[in-house]
Amino acid sequence: MRNKKILVVEDEESIRKFIRINLEREGFIVIEAETGEKALEIAKSEDIDVVVLDIMLPGIDGYQVCKELRNKYSTIGIIMLTAKSQDVDKIMGLEYGTDDYMVKPFNPLELVLRIKSLIRRIDANKPENHEIVTFGPFKIDKYSRQFFKNEKHIELTPTEYSIIKLFIENPGRAFTRDEILNLVWGYDFIGDTKIVDVNIRRLRTKIEDDSKNPHYIETVWGVGYRWRRDGNLSGGDYEK
Ligand code: CA
Repeated sequence: MRNKKILVVEDEESIRKFIRINLEREGFIVIEAETGEKALEIAKSEDIDVVVLDIMLPGIDGYQVCKELRNKYSTIGIIMLTAKSQDVDKIMGLEYGTDDYMVKPFNPLELVLRIKSLIRRIDANKPENHEIVTFGPFKIDKYSRQFFKNEKHIELTPTEYSIIKLFIENPGRAFTRDEILNLVWGYDFIGDTKIVDVNIRRLRTKIEDDSKNPHYIETVWGVGYRWRRDGNLSGGDYEK
């Protein structure tokens, strides 16, 4: 996720700075625009991955900016910032082609997660992404979506694969069951978090040396799960 470029379009400086601080903490490169016109100018010269776009802007509004961005740059990710009163069906509709939205005021951590999820979805659609990530005894080939332990191929279901990918892209980060559910299954998935436990159990059987005493996928009591980031995994590269 490092070096991904996020364009934050928002006329209120305090909100813009607040978003910037939270995204930079995650290793994103942040570019700010206080108007839609400026945002479109920046998009011409910068290779933007995701745009965080406020709807209420002076000059051309977020809807117009979204429409123009979509027309010109089909692979760019767009997350709209909306007020409660705005029509979500309109925002998510075909005309504008937003990828996601957040209602103000929002939790910055949630914005970060949504950006990461969006980038993953964008990257998954790019056939040229031939990234191989190694970490400890493991290797993941994001192009063929294959997973290896000590060079031995381990068969994973798409869901298990998505969970593993979520973990290795965020080593050391504790995820709640709800977060895993949201990030892997999708925001609209209304399900029981037990499905997360079931998948984790299955994953441990497949990847741990001893699934009864898991080393890589740790249980964080009262929270959820975490991919261990420690000396035993050193020598691995989490980023390409
Ligand atoms: Ca605004």
